[in-house]
Amino acid sequence: MPQLTTLFQSMPYGPAPESADAAEAWLDAHEREFDLFINNTWTAPAEGSYLTVSNPARGETLAQAADATAADIDAAVLAARSAYQSWSALSPHQRAGHLYAIARNLQKHARLLAVVESLDNGKPIRESRDIDVPLAARHFYYHAGWAQLMASELRDYQSLGVVGQVIPWNFPLLMLAWKIAPALATGNTVVIKPAPYTPLSALLFAEIIAEAGLPPGVVNIITGGDEAGAALVAHQDLDKVAFTGSTAVGRVIRGATAGSGIKMTLELGGKSPFVVFDDADLDGAIEGLVDAIFFNQGQVCCAGSRLLAQENIADEFLARLKRRMARLRLGDALDKGIDIGAVIDPVQYEMIDRWVQRGISEGADVYQPDCDLPANGCFYPPTLLSNLEAAAAVAQEEIFGPVLVAMSFRTPSEAVELANNTRYGLAASVWSENISLALETARQIKAGSVWINSGNLFDAASGFGGYRESGYGREGGKEGLFAYLRPRWMTRARPQLGEPPSDWGAHTPPAPAKLGVEPSASTGLDRTAKFYIGGAQARPDGNYTRQVISPSGARVGQVGDGNRKDARNAVEAAHKAKNWAYYSPHNRAQILFYIAENLSARAEEFAGRIAAMTETPLDAARSEVAASIDRLFHWAAFADKSGGAVQETTLRGLVVALHEPLGVIGIACPDEAPLLAFLSLVAPAISRGNTVVCIPSPRYPLSATDLYQVFDTSDLPAGVVNIITGDRDHLVKTLVEHDDVDGLWYFGDAEGARQVEARSIHNIKRTWVSYGVKRDWLDPEQGAGAEFLHESIQVKNIWTPTGA
Ligand code: NAD
Repeated sequence: MPQLTTLFQSMPYGPAPESADAAEAWLDAHEREFDLFINNTWTAPAEGSYLTVSNPARGETLAQAADATAADIDAAVLAARSAYQSWSALSPHQRAGHLYAIARNLQKHARLLAVVESLDNGKPIRESRDIDVPLAARHFYYHAGWAQLMASELRDYQSLGVVGQVIPWNFPLLMLAWKIAPALATGNTVVIKPAPYTPLSALLFAEIIAEAGLPPGVVNIITGGDEAGAALVAHQDLDKVAFTGSTAVGRVIRGATAGSGIKMTLELGGKSPFVVFDDADLDGAIEGLVDAIFFNQGQVCCAGSRLLAQENIADEFLARLKRRMARLRLGDALDKGIDIGAVIDPVQYEMIDRWVQRGISEGADVYQPDCDLPANGCFYPPTLLSNLEAAAAVAQEEIFGPVLVAMSFRTPSEAVELANNTRYGLAASVWSENISLALETARQIKAGSVWINSGNLFDAASGFGGYRESGYGREGGKEGLFAYLRPRWMTRARPQLGEPPSDWGAHTPPAPAKLGVEPSASTGLDRTAKFYIGGAQARPDGNYTRQVISPSGARVGQVGDGNRKDARNAVEAAHKAKNWAYYSPHNRAQILFYIAENLSARAEEFAGRIAAMTETPLDAARSEVAASIDRLFHWAAFADKSGGAVQETTLRGLVVALHEPLGVIGIACPDEAPLLAFLSLVAPAISRGNTVVCIPSPRYPLSATDLYQVFDTSDLPAGVVNIITGDRDHLVKTLVEHDDVDGLWYFGDAEGARQVEARSIHNIKRTWVSYGVKRDWLDPEQGAGAEFLHESIQVKNIWTPTGA
């Protein structure tokens, strides 16, 4: 028996176990075997197969869960489809009532959910009890509010239909809540597949929603392996797929749904920077960092896995960090006194260890404290890899374990450069007592969430999601709702596609003009319009031209026939002009107004050109020009009226949602309304600070090429708008495959839409395609609705705790 004085000196932790009795009893009540939850009924899997679910901390089997196959998924989608009719027809208040009941029932069963989650996942009970479960309940409360407000706040939108959702194992209940709550609030029904390692909290959730009175078929829970996930996302009767998981699987899913007309959001991996300036509160930053990288055993998509410490404090910071790491306690998930639990599975353990060995082979110094590891279970020690090059694989790739990579920087601009030296863009932490420096750094880092002097803060009122290869779409906040809605006027595109052509995007030679037909009498023009690149007119690299021919066969003019090199030159020019994003909104508005004014001075000439090219009556052409001027005014107006919002989260402090531009957007215009469609697409993009490479209507490009002088005389900076004429799909192929193009808007045919979506996967480019469905560009909703604004921006949430 140790002396009291010795105990006071060492202050050892005793065990503080949370009882697993209620969770064990719940498992026993199900005889430790779970079927599929379809139509609020436990349904045996068609092929009768089950997966083993085990406890990673103890290595013991917990239960068996059904392994769904395609027939089960058909049944679940059918159930969701039949439930959709009545669910979507409920009043907003009735749906709000259901979401509220779910939230209340989650709170009622909070302790059981937390224990089940920790048993299944290995995460410390402190985290599941204080973070995962309360945040899940909060998500349903928050979205109960949106359900209530649908009719007034989102009256121009409608639900999509049936949503297929696939989630990972690191936050099983929370990811489920992030997926299901916005889907239901907006009137959709759901089929969701939890990860094979961690289905239990989803199965308990199934019981909770049945108890809460959710109608049958509104939420269907399909357990199963990766094949079940693949079968779900390939189901043709879905209207939307929402995926959270690895970037590799995200790519596969984007490929599988390409061209289908199924809406898609991807929440993928990350390698988030944790930036510490020399004036930061270092002890605060150490605590923040421990939380950023060791929370949930580092199996967190937004883990602060790359420490960037300013050079003059880096040694001291690492020394303090090592001291802190040595005091971390690893142990059973149900022990309330532990900091780090078990990683999910031996497979994950080995993968983490392979990365650490790789770091060593790349020259890293490794620090692992000599902490007590439990004899059984998957416990990986907290690990620090330092002294590495920024290009080292361990500094670039997501490890998804308790492994921190440390580097240093000298100046704020070097910090930003290193922070952005990643293909991901999910989150970042910035530590400095200098608020201007911290905020400016936050603005410059390309990531969906930036936490100032804090980390890993989440709330339902603030959308979470990535830039670049971390995916697209947001979960939470008003911004997250749009993933589950479509404009009221729009119906779901169901493109009919054959086998994809092997030569899509190959250059098609220009069609020869009909012999004997003279240039259009109305304009008398027959000169070749060049490209518009970097604010100057440029000749086509290949020195070829295309005839512009009216419907009756008259030659109206000629334009350059662009090739890959022209497209790449235009992208380079658009990149050089990216400073446009930092022009004041007032400046951008002024320039758009000015373009409108200069177009209006030449309205008659533009109308004549449209009439000659398309052979529409002159009056209709005049209306198109007038609508184009109106549209320029519309987007000029929005240049300084959609900057973002202050999010009303649970944090005491300021959470600011910034509407940032995507960067460089490639735009392929339709043939209809050649001037109006061109300006309807270009104007919102540049109004919100993007630069563009635009391919005008291939058939009727001259209205766009006539704009060069209008742009020149309107103070539009060089490179903000670049125009290349020619074969649309040939040029689009280069743009979509170009790593430096951040978004691609395609208003061509259905096959082109499929190709654009399928080819966007290499850098997870955001795409917006029409699937060959034409819209009425004159209609203000179809030609200038809020959809255009959403497609022109990405939301960054900057979290700034306040308080004296
Ligand atoms: P994973 O991609 O291997 O699996 C995720 C889910 O997809 C599982 O349910 C799995 O069964 C399913 N799946 C696998 N192959 C599939 C396929 N071909 N088609 C359809 N479904 C398929 O990821 P994981 O290992 O479970 O989770 C870790 C990853 O999730 C990390 O990369 C992490 O960064 C990411 N993540 C991202 C976020 C976010 O919000 N951005 C949140 C949590 C986790």
